[in-house]
Amino acid sequence: MINIAIDGPGGAGKSSVAKAVASRLGIIYVDTGALYRTVGYYVRKKNVDPHDADGVAALLPEINLEIKFEDGCQWVYLNGENLGDAIRTPEMSMYASAVSAIPAVRAFLLDAQRNIASKNSVIMDGRDIGTVILPNADVKIFMFASPEARARRRFDELQAKGQNVKFEDVLSEMNERDSNDRNRATAPAVPAEDAVMFDNSDVDLEGSIKYVIDLVLKKCGDKL
Ligand code: C5P
Repeated sequence: MINIAIDGPGGAGKSSVAKAVASRLGIIYVDTGALYRTVGYYVRKKNVDPHDADGVAALLPEINLEIKFEDGCQWVYLNGENLGDAIRTPEMSMYASAVSAIPAVRAFLLDAQRNIASKNSVIMDGRDIGTVILPNADVKIFMFASPEARARRRFDELQAKGQNVKFEDVLSEMNERDSNDRNRATAPAVPAEDAVMFDNSDVDLEGSIKYVIDLVLKKCGDKL
């Protein structure tokens, strides 16, 4: 069994790369951002301020999250309902970022993440996978790119989904979210000391996939 941790800021291509690597290596891709987005979605639905730590913590007992894998895709069910792409809007990104700074939320989601990785070979992406969730991962990668390159990718992705957004708004939201994630007190989005740093500003998707696969094969190909 192998555990691969990919951390880094939004728009660095973590999920596209991890999804492709998982399918080529025949392992499971776990998107941990979806869990924070789902908590954010519920908090929004209940009209609670996502920065109100006590208010958000009080909602957690009402939340039952299930992670299901169907046709190689991960879906998060909130109290029995598959939220699909409703958690992928820019508003949900900001809600996710706000609730993810609350220690009770991180503690609430910790076991679910560790459980999956203890039972399966996974490539898991997030912000604190190499530092907190899977400190003993076989491979740790911190994937990043310039803010402009990342905002461009996110902008293209949102447009492809038919969401009407402005590039400037995507860039400023991304910068705000990065700064929240990097500077929070609990599990800040920083590289693990033993992570391999991968700047893919000038590397396309296929190149990034190859980089990760080569690294995995070199570090722990014997375990696959
Ligand atoms: O990766 P994604 O953009 O879906 O994550 C949404 C937000 O969830 C991030 O901005 C971050 O605040 C939070 N997150 C986190 N830890 C993770 C994954 C996501 O704090 N492991």
